[in-house]
Amino acid sequence: MIAQVIVDIAAKQTDRIFEYHIPDELGGVEIGSRVFVPFGPRKLQGFVVGLSEKSKYKGKLKDLLLVVDEMPPLTPELVKLSADLANHVFSYRITILKAMLPRVMRANYRKILTPVSAKAKKMPLFQGDPVDLSDITDVKQVTFVRKLLRNADAKIEYLVENRAKVKTQNQYLLTEDKAEYVKIYNALRQNAVKQKQLLMDIIENYQQYPKFQDNLERDAQVNTSTLTSAVKKGWFKKKAVEVYRDPLSGFNGDPKKKAITLNDQQQNALNEITPAINERKAQIFLLEGITGSGKTEVYLHAISKALKQGRNALMLVPEISLTPQMVRQVKARFGEQVAVLHSGLSEGELYDEWRRIRRGEVRVVVGARSAVFAPLTNIGLIVIDEEHESSYKQEDNPRYHARDVAIWRSKYNHCPLVLGSATPSLDSRARAQKGVYKLLRLTKRANNKKLPEVKLIDLKHVQFAGSQFDLSVELVDAIKESLAKKGQVILMLNRRGFANFMLCRECGYVMKCPNCDLSLTMHKDTGEMQCHYCGYTEPIPKCCPNCHSSQIRFLGTGTQKVQEELLQLIPTAKVLRMDVDTTRRKGSYKRILDAFGNHEADILLGTQMIAKGLDFPNVTLVGVINADTGLWVPDYNASERTFELLTQVAGRAGRAEKTGKVLIQTYNPEHYAIKLAQTQDYERFYGYEMRVRHAGNYPPYFYTVLISVASKKEQNAAREAFTIKRRLQQNLHASTIILGPTPSAIARLKNQYYYQILVKYKSEDNLNKLLHQIQDSAQEIKKYGLNVYIDNEPERIM
Ligand code: ADP
Ligand code: ZN
Ligand code: ZN
Repeated sequence: MIAQVIVDIAAKQTDRIFEYHIPDELGGVEIGSRVFVPFGPRKLQGFVVGLSEKSKYKGKLKDLLLVVDEMPPLTPELVKLSADLANHVFSYRITILKAMLPRVMRANYRKILTPVSAKAKKMPLFQGDPVDLSDITDVKQVTFVRKLLRNADAKIEYLVENRAKVKTQNQYLLTEDKAEYVKIYNALRQNAVKQKQLLMDIIENYQQYPKFQDNLERDAQVNTSTLTSAVKKGWFKKKAVEVYRDPLSGFNGDPKKKAITLNDQQQNALNEITPAINERKAQIFLLEGITGSGKTEVYLHAISKALKQGRNALMLVPEISLTPQMVRQVKARFGEQVAVLHSGLSEGELYDEWRRIRRGEVRVVVGARSAVFAPLTNIGLIVIDEEHESSYKQEDNPRYHARDVAIWRSKYNHCPLVLGSATPSLDSRARAQKGVYKLLRLTKRANNKKLPEVKLIDLKHVQFAGSQFDLSVELVDAIKESLAKKGQVILMLNRRGFANFMLCRECGYVMKCPNCDLSLTMHKDTGEMQCHYCGYTEPIPKCCPNCHSSQIRFLGTGTQKVQEELLQLIPTAKVLRMDVDTTRRKGSYKRILDAFGNHEADILLGTQMIAKGLDFPNVTLVGVINADTGLWVPDYNASERTFELLTQVAGRAGRAEKTGKVLIQTYNPEHYAIKLAQTQDYERFYGYEMRVRHAGNYPPYFYTVLISVASKKEQNAAREAFTIKRRLQQNLHASTIILGPTPSAIARLKNQYYYQILVKYKSEDNLNKLLHQIQDSAQEIKKYGLNVYIDNEPERIM
């Protein structure tokens, strides 16, 4: 048999398939297997993407060296997907194949030098043991190693190393029958108390053995040494068995919550989806439901339907709303059959959850973006919650959108895909308008509560509380009033840190990152000025670094500063802050939300992290400290993002018995994105924004591709960008719009200058091929320090 392998070699010819002969002794090579292959003088990792009887190649094929995993990590479906996706997102197939695996499974292997001859075994280099070649750096030693290899005194072996190891636990297996143990018990000396105790436990609980060590020690109340001596005596056999690390062990569900009867609107939506599940149709639904309308309940019912059909379900949620609340809900409904995948898990947990899925031990997978590659088979339903979220698009290579991948998988599995949102992306909503997706609507809150009353506070004409210009008297009074009535408050400011730039009033100097064209943010708690892009830091200056004047000001407000102001204005309030800085540590996110849920704090202050998915019944006031933070960024979808964020955060108020109120502070109360967010009027926003997009030739009226050229030398980036533009102009339709090249909005990042070309088109048969050619020639110019990135349907056009 012959294996077709995609080999993990750096860029260039990576998408070529290489053929290898499968030696008889290597059993179990399947499509999706991870293997090691000889490649020139090297030995590399690769993935088997095909098997065949014969090869067209005339010469002698080399042999596969080894198969890495017991079970092929990738399913045939994922192998097929990798080819189509690489083509769609202008990436290489090997990049996609690796992106499909949990990080711990991506290429970890060491080269081990093992002595073979008797002479070598005695050498001081080995001292009897193999050595890791990466430890050998000395030139003399390297020459010596070469000689050993040449004379066949030593050989190289490849040790595949997964950083996350399989976790094991000792299991004790009984070796005798019950009567035999009774005999042993009776023969024991009177003073062998512990041993008698252990035997008595075995005899009494004979049916339940084997037990894990933990339980055995606890149940029989003996220590490890008693167990060890029992093993020595032959009463037990000790065996290490694999156990899973369970990230959900804390969420053992609340079975009482199980039965929620759907209301009419929810039931109607479900009735539309069910036939597609039962009849295995790859139909796409857009579930447009206002915040609190009970979309989650519709998803869960639909998942049950898929399970009843003997099929499995995949549910994607944005990282940010993968809250303990959400996980608990799914777990309560489907128990042990659920696996979760997200970045909050430890590598070990992720590895175990992933293997449970691969082994077919779970039926429901809930996860963030990359979970769209979960090796789940027999999928009967895919759900994407908050489908408008920009985090579904990966910003780095491979630049895929989870929604596109989900559409592909729904076709492959013949199953429906449900996209849910209170504020669907314009793209999805436009497709629903055209009938490509089926539109389902939930127009009222599930518990018949009205949407909260939303008021805009015009910051141009207000009185501010305290000495700063951040919190209006009206907002502070409303907070106090809510707290007086024992309600809780959510405050959002989509900017972390204390102040977002330092300005010298003497010379006008603004402190910028030396690597990026961005101002440094002041972080008072760590005493640092930080670049939020590259992580560069330096101490907060006491005077202007440029003119040494002491007249420096820290302007622009971040969450840390608001926290300080709240402390001064409402000293009795307990405030929890949630932003990137307070949630870096594993588990901190859950801790903050649990604390707020248990009413250990009155105010939850945070960035957009707190805007989505949270369901706290006691929240009666939501305040937006500055609605304008994302409004004037130079991006065609700034209005859409602003509308979404405000609508989502407003939806956090008044979700249960207590009525809710929302106050939005803004300098732009007339802006349509803000005005329509006030009335939560998605339909009108959609209509208005579509006209804006039409006038500006923007998506969804046009498809877009963004080509960026980066280099340390600005003129090189510019020159290459112009070359690419000429090539595009020569080959594309006259109706296609080619904008640029222009320096990107942030012209320099991590010391690289960026030039961008934006292609807007309606239909271009040659574009895909042309871009692949550009991508291939980009490999040639890498050596001159030029990088070309192609982003199909970018989320952000800088
Ligand atoms: P969405 O995701 O649409 O914002 P959720 O799914 O979070 O809304 O539901 C909002 C609240 O309504 C939740 O507390 C949920 O338990 C409750 N809920 C959902 N469906 C029903 C129903 N049919 N009857 C009563 N309460 C419901
Ligand atoms: Zn100065
Ligand atoms: Zn920087």
